[in-house]
Amino acid sequence: METRYDYLIVGAGLFGATFAHLADKQGKRCLVIDKRLHTGGNIYCENIKGINVHKYGAHIFHTSDKKIWDFVNSIVRFNRYTNSPVAQAADGRLYNLPFNMNTFYQMWNVKTPEEAYAKIEEQRREAILQMEEDGITEPRNLEEQALALIGRDIYYKLIKGYTEKQWGRSCSRLPAFIIRRLPVRLTFDNNYFNDTYQGIPIGGYNRLVDGLLNGIEVILDTDFFSDREKWESLAEKIVFTGKIDEFYGYRFGKLQYRTVRFETEILEEANYQGNAVVNYTSSEVPYTRIIEHKHFEAFGNEVYDNPHTVISREYSTEWVEGMEPFYPVNDTKNQEIYAKYKKLVDREDNVIFGGRLAEYKYYDMAPIIANVLKYFNI
Ligand code: UDP
Repeated sequence: METRYDYLIVGAGLFGATFAHLADKQGKRCLVIDKRLHTGGNIYCENIKGINVHKYGAHIFHTSDKKIWDFVNSIVRFNRYTNSPVAQAADGRLYNLPFNMNTFYQMWNVKTPEEAYAKIEEQRREAILQMEEDGITEPRNLEEQALALIGRDIYYKLIKGYTEKQWGRSCSRLPAFIIRRLPVRLTFDNNYFNDTYQGIPIGGYNRLVDGLLNGIEVILDTDFFSDREKWESLAEKIVFTGKIDEFYGYRFGKLQYRTVRFETEILEEANYQGNAVVNYTSSEVPYTRIIEHKHFEAFGNEVYDNPHTVISREYSTEWVEGMEPFYPVNDTKNQEIYAKYKKLVDREDNVIFGGRLAEYKYYDMAPIIANVLKYFNI
């Protein structure tokens, strides 16, 4: 049978949509299929009461790479949103994130970088000495990494409860790299990211996805695995962005994922929590955070232009069949299984694997775009 497409792209999320866009620009024939009823994967937004609700969790675009920033802005302009989450701890008090002078002032009442540094060093030394006594040279897990990085006060108040809720695993069984995402600074700077560029597409993420997929054939509500042979026969190459274990029929076992259940509420008030993101770091509170979506796109008193607001409480759970997988669980057990699949991946000539699920990697959005640009030598 004659192939009709150069690429069959399985999954209309950010990787798939960006790939389709760039391939199409080069004159390649692309077909995108997705099992959901909408494009955009987990960056999809639903408009409720004039507010773009991040249906699958908050997405904040950030990068230091001008090429990537210019690329996404060529599809849709981005606003000036700066992520600065606040954490409510078990003591009921609010602390600024990431860990910076505001947090240290709130935690220890220290007012200068020198005082804060001394406090952190004292606590770090305690943790490092303990590790040395136990014969540990490098932090082996998230708990050791956090204690060695920032010390016990912050670890127990702001990290342990949140992380164990998010991952459903003890911090001593989680990889250290997860916590290295969070900056530690001796300045009064609540910007969660270190990147040069940051923002949200003006009008929401659907504008970005629609722009990327403009003019490209997309079939929704269609599961690749329900008729795999037919779909494979349609194109020269497959771009696969789904779960890697499913692609290989789970032959080396199932990989684990975390997912998030959202309790979304429309409120008859304009400003519920004064910030897009409030984390709840206590193990006693069942949700990890509350997102108030309007703050991604309305700043200052603009938030009062809309008398309603929409909030989502996030409950982190283990993924089971029928849910949308969000986060790969990159612990040792799962990484070992993934390594076996990766060997098969490396032997494929006609399949390109990309994104969080196919690469079993905790990607942010910008590196996803970077990876696609690389395929096209951009
Ligand atoms: N984290 C934490 N306390 C917080 C926020 C984050 O300990 O209040 C840690 C936690 O280990 C988490 C990691 O930082 O898994 C990354 O969190 P982030 O919210 O940045 O991840 P996202 O879910 O937004 O990708």
